[in-house]
Amino acid sequence: MKVFKFGGASVKSASAVRNIADILNRFPADDLIVVISAMGKTTNALERYLDACRKQQPEAAACLEQLKHYHLEIMDELFADSDHAVYTDVQFIFDHLQQFLEAGPAESYDVQYDAMVSCGELLSTKIVSHYLNDAAIVNQWFDARELIKTDDTFREGKVDWKLTGYLVEKILEPYFDVCDRQRGIAVTQGFIAGTIDDQTTTLGREGSDYSGAIMAYCTDAESLTIWKDVPGVLNADPKYFDVTEKLPRISYKEATELSYYGASVIHPKTLKPLQNKQIPLLVKSFFMPTDEGTQIQEGVECDHLVPSFIFKVDQMLISIAPKDFSFIDEHNLSCIFGLFAKYRIKLRLMQSSAISFSACIDNRHDKLPQLLDELGENFEVKYNEGLELLTIRHYDEPTIERLIIDKEVLLIQKGRSTARLVLRPLVEVEWMKELKEA
Ligand code: ASP
Repeated sequence: MKVFKFGGASVKSASAVRNIADILNRFPADDLIVVISAMGKTTNALERYLDACRKQQPEAAACLEQLKHYHLEIMDELFADSDHAVYTDVQFIFDHLQQFLEAGPAESYDVQYDAMVSCGELLSTKIVSHYLNDAAIVNQWFDARELIKTDDTFREGKVDWKLTGYLVEKILEPYFDVCDRQRGIAVTQGFIAGTIDDQTTTLGREGSDYSGAIMAYCTDAESLTIWKDVPGVLNADPKYFDVTEKLPRISYKEATELSYYGASVIHPKTLKPLQNKQIPLLVKSFFMPTDEGTQIQEGVECDHLVPSFIFKVDQMLISIAPKDFSFIDEHNLSCIFGLFAKYRIKLRLMQSSAISFSACIDNRHDKLPQLLDELGENFEVKYNEGLELLTIRHYDEPTIERLIIDKEVLLIQKGRSTARLVLRPLVEVEWMKELKEA
């Protein structure tokens, strides 16, 4: 068994879907579980639709119409027959989405989010599965909500591994057994899951990689391949760095460090299940499927040969000091951490001194104002916005010097192999312009 994961970019158009068929044809003898994300930027569009519905804004209907138009355009290119069953399947999902138009803010945001945003993956997998069957790549569509079970932490479901393992075996094994000597292909959704009482949950933004890893873990797959629009894991994001290098082989540990620090190529939760069962992770280009890509597995000794750069923009540095001038001790820390956990705001970097605790976070959480208010009850809170967080793995001093030209260093942390810097650009930089325009 091999598990393949295709992200949004690999299903963003009709030609991209055809390309998936080409890739699958290169593996004629393998049983495959194919995990697919929503098409293109559908998840973002669904988030906008959800907000518009909750605020009962008139543009909600137009949002939905646009999404429908986008999917139908792709389908019209892929399916010659306008009576094809795919149209009924897709209409059913859009009918479900339509119901939210009237609902308003009926239930909790997170519950409604999962019920609505999960539709992106349901749409894409229905379309791809029908297309592949038509292209003689025989497959069966499976509902990931029946396979992957989580608790009811909506928008970030915690996986019930035992139950998921049991269900994956119970549901998928008979399918692959029936396929017998022909290979079987199970097409399913990334990102989405279900609670034990069948409510829809999601695994966190960009969570389809993690879905792939869950499937690989539960089926003891020989590998998980993540098909991407880059040639593999690069040592820096080409969006911010002119020169990048592909890392041909890295260890689970290095990949975990890179994803933890925010390298967006692999979802941070993906590595653990794979490492636990020693399942190799391959990151390959869907444009160049015969190229090697990056192999992530145990026993790779050359992690340190190429420095890697992880660059996060639009960061905020918060400094938190107890109002009563008490120390940043265990009590104050547990109170601070408790609030970050309550609002599910991830700390990207932290540092404490005698009477102050500093944390770097993404400056785009919807719950940030609430967090700042609540922190303000017991702490003096100050913050700087418009910052960058740069992490350099396997750094040296000349590299740091080169990267801080035209920047003010607000905070720096150095370990044996990792340097982390919070920077304030002294001139207006590209990402700031983009942010203003967005
Ligand atoms: N569609 C989801 C998202 O955009 C999950 C994923 O693509 O991994 O976050």
